[in-house]
Amino acid sequence: MVQQLDYHTIREIFDRFRAAEPEPRGELHHVNAFTLVVAVALSAQATDAGVNRATAKLFEIADTPAKMLALGLESVTEHIKSIGLYRNKARNVLKLSQILVDDYGGEVPNSRAALQSLPGVGRKTANVVLNMWWHYPAQAVDTHIFRVGNRTGICPGKDVMAVERAIEDNVPVDYQHHAHHWMILHGRYICVARKPKCGACLLRDLCLFEEKTL
Ligand code: SF4
Repeated sequence: MVQQLDYHTIREIFDRFRAAEPEPRGELHHVNAFTLVVAVALSAQATDAGVNRATAKLFEIADTPAKMLALGLESVTEHIKSIGLYRNKARNVLKLSQILVDDYGGEVPNSRAALQSLPGVGRKTANVVLNMWWHYPAQAVDTHIFRVGNRTGICPGKDVMAVERAIEDNVPVDYQHHAHHWMILHGRYICVARKPKCGACLLRDLCLFEEKTL
């Protein structure tokens, strides 16, 4: 297990992330809280680019739970059929739309528990929505954050909950909100899974990973 970096090194890492990209953004297209929930739920085992291609038309005609329900299962399924697990995901989109209409007046609730009660919405999806829409410092640990956190020593942990806790415990509070996107983008484009681009990495003198590719 990689050791935990100290406070000053973690602050230096996030100083550098901020200098390179002051306002990091997620790459899933959405136009409101509802379309964000749907996009994040659809992104399980799919790439953001693939989800964006599938939702471009869908969100033009169905950007509210009521409009999604009016579209119906067959049409929603047709729109998202290029995404993995699309049949199940289409059913969940319709079910969660029904719950939002019935129980929340068509709005998206903003507590983790309420979000997680929606079909197809787990803790990670809820945390993404809390972070991206309500700017709450929730930490959604995906495969990129798990890898970056463990390689660098920013937030090592044996499972996603341990990494989530390590971010909350160790990342300075002024960096908690954007930590999610800085680490995801770093993992997606620089600290990639098979051969990290350590030569181009702005953290290479701080990172604890022993197998750097320099
Ligand atoms: S130095 Fe290499 S292993 Fe460490 S964060 Fe950068 S790319 Fe990842």
